[in-house]
Amino acid sequence: MFPDHLLDKLNDEQLAAVTLPDEPALILAGAGSGKTRVLTTRIAWLIQQGRVSPSGILAVTFTNKAAKEMLARLGAMLPINLRGMWIGTFHGLCNRFLRAHHRDAGLPQTFQILDSADQLSAIKRLLKGLNVDDQKYPAKNLQHFINNCKEEGLRAEKTPAHDPQSRKFVELYEEYDRQCQREGVVDFAELLLRSYEVLLANEPLREHYQRRFRHILVDEFQDTNNLQYKWLKLLGRQASVFAVGDDDQSIYAFRGANVGNMAAFERDFRVQHLIKLEQNYRSYSNILDCANELIANNGNRLGKNLRTTRGHGEPVRIYESMTDQQEAQWLVDEAQNLIAGGKSRSEIAVLYRSNAQSRVIESALFKAGIPYRVYGGLRFFERAEIKHALAYLRLMENPHDDTAFLRVVNFPARGIGARSMEQLSDIARERQCSLHQAVPYLSGKAGKTIGDFVTMVDGLRFETAGLRLPEAVDQMLETSGLRAHYRAEKEGQERLENLDELVNAAANFISDDGMVSGIAGAKGFGLSGSEQAALAEGAGFDATGGGQGDAGFGADGLAAGGGADGLASDGGPAIADGAIALVPDADGVLDLPIPPLAAFLAHASLEAGDNQAEAGQDAMQLMTVHAAKGLEFDVVFLTGLEEGLFPHENAAAETSGLEEERRLMYVAITRARERLYISHAQTRMLHGQTRYNVRSRFLGELPEGCCKWLTPRISGYAAQQAGSVKAGWKRDWKESRSTGWEELGEYDAKAARRADIPDTGGGPVPGWVQKQQASDAGLRLGQSVRHAKFGEGVVTNIEGSGSDARAQINFRSAGSKWLALSVAKLEPL
Ligand code: ATP
Ligand code: MG
Repeated sequence: MFPDHLLDKLNDEQLAAVTLPDEPALILAGAGSGKTRVLTTRIAWLIQQGRVSPSGILAVTFTNKAAKEMLARLGAMLPINLRGMWIGTFHGLCNRFLRAHHRDAGLPQTFQILDSADQLSAIKRLLKGLNVDDQKYPAKNLQHFINNCKEEGLRAEKTPAHDPQSRKFVELYEEYDRQCQREGVVDFAELLLRSYEVLLANEPLREHYQRRFRHILVDEFQDTNNLQYKWLKLLGRQASVFAVGDDDQSIYAFRGANVGNMAAFERDFRVQHLIKLEQNYRSYSNILDCANELIANNGNRLGKNLRTTRGHGEPVRIYESMTDQQEAQWLVDEAQNLIAGGKSRSEIAVLYRSNAQSRVIESALFKAGIPYRVYGGLRFFERAEIKHALAYLRLMENPHDDTAFLRVVNFPARGIGARSMEQLSDIARERQCSLHQAVPYLSGKAGKTIGDFVTMVDGLRFETAGLRLPEAVDQMLETSGLRAHYRAEKEGQERLENLDELVNAAANFISDDGMVSGIAGAKGFGLSGSEQAALAEGAGFDATGGGQGDAGFGADGLAAGGGADGLASDGGPAIADGAIALVPDADGVLDLPIPPLAAFLAHASLEAGDNQAEAGQDAMQLMTVHAAKGLEFDVVFLTGLEEGLFPHENAAAETSGLEEERRLMYVAITRARERLYISHAQTRMLHGQTRYNVRSRFLGELPEGCCKWLTPRISGYAAQQAGSVKAGWKRDWKESRSTGWEELGEYDAKAARRADIPDTGGGPVPGWVQKQQASDAGLRLGQSVRHAKFGEGVVTNIEGSGSDARAQINFRSAGSKWLALSVAKLEPL
């Protein structure tokens, strides 16, 4: 029986969405309105009602973390096994698909995944090998070009090129693909494009999956890119596609996401049901009002309202520090108080716009002894020593992986010089083979030393064949000399610990009962022997999900993905450690699992590993705002609210960029359930430079009545505009067109004193005057202007008055400049 109370808790619109008939539907709703909850409950409801079996469901989430959480919630709702359900990110799902159909895709089953750093180094290597001038064709630009093409679904031969520069790019794109194919590696965008192409080209396979996936559910739909959308269209031709999204949270346009997919979806799928959810269940209204007022500054919105019944809650706390270090220290002190008051650490999140900000915060947390976990950023699996270790593992798995070969052939140092490697590369190029295959043709001392390296790796592959995964990793660390290398290094202790942690990660990946789990939170879903038996018998739920058609694919089977391939599908099918077992899925179809090492390596590429706190330990959560999408926390610290940082300087010059930054700010604010802190620092060390910062314009867009300043606001016009003028007033200020600022409500001298501003008895304070002068000059913060010489820009600060008035303008091409308003002729746009 479906537990009724799960439906009881839903409001009318949510209930309608959960129980919609099997037709395409779009749920459009703001943050915290229960979109993800509705999607998850719908899956449970569909299965429980017998409308579909778990294997007939394909659910797409935005992060692995979200997939895990969804799976855990489903597990709590449904007392059945969810094996056979495909749930994960687009990348994770495509990885699973390609493993299962690697032959159709023309890939080795153990293909390796290149993350973006690996991809960049593969491109650099390509350019070097082809003697391409990297000034003229920078590797990074080529990387962007290739990824953009792939995300548009374009192969090199189909990519239009009208000038010599783009023709060269196209040619290099083709070469790059050839190199990847030769080495058996696949980049992130390729995962999607390749599986799309396989589906397109292979009719029986396509029909099989179209029949199988009766229900496709997509969370965070606003951030799908064009290729993902095409993939969905292809796969979902016969399915009920259920998409949930929020245009105000579209924050990946810079990576090709297309919010226009929402409108396209409505049209292409002939959506019958468009449901809006307007009640926010997450946040108190002070937090929600901040988010609503902020986002109202954006144009082109689809338009939604959000209301909450949770009451006002506490005001949003705003803090200004002198330096970034002081900001971090304050944050740690506040967090410590909260923790001492009983708040669990995992309910406290620290968000930042840019990864580089985390270092100072991490160091303050470390000093205070507070466990924390960083999501994204320099992830565990991206650290240099871990990448070295993974390169050895990759070579053990696939000796032709040239990227891995080059990374460790001389690490630890073996006296192999650049010249020897060039010789080897030349041979490989001539013979169109991998570096590994080229070694026997290399003569002399170089041939001997590199030959020894190859023998060592080949020996490792052989010796570890019968070992459990963690033991194999351990042995590799010894034999390769990696451990010895870091042991000898003066500051190598932390790196050694990380290497040990890799052994632990391998051990966790293979769970206690010898099954691949890869997902801590989903271990409970691992199958015991008796469960497998039960499943093989059909386990008592309606197998309508295309079970019949599956039989035809028994040979290739379905990937036994689970945690193994970075998907949170089901905590892992039963892959006996070290052995390969065939296990029937819910439809009785045999799964062909991939070997544990290959699975582990795929997991390392796809999963944002984290290592700072031990698994299961209660730890504070650190992440970029991008990574926080879809998540929620009792307490959120949102740091670094400074012009140039947030909104980011690369984005602020253009309206579309600025609006995306504002949506990002909207996402950040709406992560908080109970308490939100926003902070900014007057100076900050970033990328080795001290920056003198102006407070972010976004602070000025928050309703004053919902905020409380923890520090006096004294710096510059922006500060007064945002705060101290108004702090003396108990109630709101309202901007009136005719008079500039207009005071409302009753003057509160005590509040003025508390906020440390001059007690003027309610008379005008300097900010008021300045505001008027700024209005006289026809300028406001955030306004776009044109200068005869510098071109277009955005006003980021205004200071002084009368003939002294000056404005800081961030020009699109000329950068940031202070201009005297009495002299500079600025034309408002
Ligand atoms: P986002 O846009 O940030 O992804 P969302 O729309 O997906 O947000 P959810 O994460 O599903 O929102 O829900 C927000 C919070 O509100 C969750 O804690 C969820 O459990 C809770 N919630 C949703 N609907 C209800 C309800 N009907 N009753 C009580 N709590 C609810
Ligand atoms: Mg959500």
